[in-house]
Amino acid sequence: MPDPVARRRSTRQGAAIDAALSAADGFLTAQALYDELRGQGASVGLTTVYRHLRRLAEDGAVDVVVRPDGEAAYRRCGSGASGEAEQHHHHLVCRTCGFSVEVEGPEVESWTQRVATDAGFTDVSHTLEIFGECGRHSSTPSPVSPPVRSGREPRGG
Ligand SMILES: [Zn+2]
Ligand SMILES: [Zn+2]
Ligand SMILES: [Zn+2]
Repeated sequence: MPDPVARRRSTRQGAAIDAALSAADGFLTAQALYDELRGQGASVGLTTVYRHLRRLAEDGAVDVVVRPDGEAAYRRCGSGASGEAEQHHHHLVCRTCGFSVEVEGPEVESWTQRVATDAGFTDVSHTLEIFGECGRHSSTPSPVSPPVRSGREPRGG
């Protein structure tokens, strides 16, 4: 029976996938990461990308969100050094481009704890991702906060 932990070859493909993940500022699906790598001229198979991502997710090295369309997307999160367990947090994810912001939700934490306790549950966990459209590419102007105009910066005194 093969040891699942000991054999951890760092292949050239794996390194390329890691680099592409680190360079991204948002969540990427395996397909998007694959396209990115192919665009860079890397010779890597889609299956390899899937497998590598899944292993990173199992190790807790990357965050995974399941997008509304059911596709899993991955991101190497900023917090926590490699090898360390990441601190619990949530994500705001753009469903169009995958751009994400890490957010904390104290209200969510206390709410989940309360409803779980009320129902007699212990050892509870949860995942919560918030999907929406980021301000980068929205065509309709937001009624709340005006978009920042490029080229002109307001000068305050
Ligand atoms: Zn994260
Ligand atoms: Zn976006
Ligand atoms: Zn939480």
